[in-house]
Amino acid sequence: HRGFWNTEGAAQNSIAALTKANDIKVYGSEFDVWLSSDGVPMINHDATTADHHLVLENTPSSQLKQEKLANGEFLPTLEEYLIKGKECKNIKLIVELKPHSTKEREDSLTAKVLSMVKELKLEKKVEYISFSLNTVKELLRRNPKAKVSYLSANLSPKELKEIGCIGLDYNLSAMMKNEHWFTEAKECGIKINVWTVNKETEMQYL
Ligand code: MG
Repeated sequence: HRGFWNTEGAAQNSIAALTKANDIKVYGSEFDVWLSSDGVPMINHDATTADHHLVLENTPSSQLKQEKLANGEFLPTLEEYLIKGKECKNIKLIVELKPHSTKEREDSLTAKVLSMVKELKLEKKVEYISFSLNTVKELLRRNPKAKVSYLSANLSPKELKEIGCIGLDYNLSAMMKNEHWFTEAKECGIKINVWTVNKETEMQYL
């Protein structure tokens, strides 16, 4: 979740958080992608930069690239992140496409992410997640083989299967409120991922 950032020398969504996730051999390392005002996919969690003074969607990439993360790295582009990710042999790359202000911007981001992943020959290494149902559908329309999971817990596993998702990626409280989804997901072959699990009791429940 934003890489392995809670450790010395790393920061959320930094290149260091990606390589440190690779070092500990977790399943995958997740990161968040926004489209800058001039159409460059950039890596950042929130809609704004860390000190809240720049809105990713409204700022040109030339300016965003000068922003520093907490560990001193510059805010990375998706391209930089994927190139480094390709060297990280132990992990999957989990790309979260953020919901944007318009469908056009979401679709533009989706097209750019898919083509960058294809060009870098990373299609087998990448999985996609999004809170935006539009983005989920656009990913699958452009590449029906893309491994896509949906984050907003407002669709049942059966509905996700019909859309072409490989999985649900829901928050823990939503799954606890809809416990039948565990069985339903298994029955229709939908993978289950749950966030954010930080307590042993939550791990045991799952
Ligand atoms: Mg995320």
